Amino acid sequence: MTVSGLSGTASQTALSVGEIYFLWWFIQGAIMSSATRVRLHRAWGMCGRHAWGFIQVEAAFRGGYLHGPAILYDDLMRRARAAFARRGPGRPLRTVHALKRKGPCILCEMRYKADSRAPARPELIRQGAEAENFRSFVQATAPGWRPAVCGICAANNAASRCRRHLLDDMRQKRVADLELHAERVAQIARRMRRYALSFRYENRAAATDADRAALICAVGWCSGWRPLLSLMAS
Ligand SMILES: [Zn+2]
Ligand SMILES: [Zn+2]
Repeated sequence: MTVSGLSGTASQTALSVGEIYFLWWFIQGAIMSSATRVRLHRAWGMCGRHAWGFIQVEAAFRGGYLHGPAILYDDLMRRARAAFARRGPGRPLRTVHALKRKGPCILCEMRYKADSRAPARPELIRQGAEAENFRSFVQATAPGWRPAVCGICAANNAASRCRRHLLDDMRQKRVADLELHAERVAQIARRMRRYALSFRYENRAAATDADRAALICAVGWCSGWRPLLSLMAS
């Protein structure tokens, strides 16, 4: 069984009842456990389907207050920035190693997919499938994230790359200037930091739309842009 969700009405890409139920449970606190954090670090978050699904479900249940994702992606983008900061003759190889996924997506490992079921209350699932808060956030921040969309994910000639497609380019020796990618990642990390800190009461007015857009850039960079692009096209 599926419900209309992240990717509109296409049942293969909409979040299933099982996925929404797991993500609801996940945002109640499981995301904060240190064992889960280690797995999220190792996998650079989650696969594309589940990474975007996580943000959508969090937005649906929290009215667009995306504190949990902000903490996670602040963490991941600091790691991404550090992956490029390696110096010396073996730098490209060590960066390739650091950018690889070292473990599976948590939901995929538990076999959550487009037809997963769960004994969940229908109102809970209806609320979790609601994509309007997520869409509003994405649309309001579009000027900030559009330049970061990966040219391979979007099938255009943009020079930006997500982590996976940058890895492909590096393996094929198609990266002329790694510094350019390092600087883009550093910029996302700086903005992500400001957005994450803006959830503290004393900083509540500090984040700009460009800082909020960094969350979209971070998810796209870590897990790829295709699920978001499908949503925007639906
Ligand atoms: Zn997954
Ligand atoms: Zn890509």
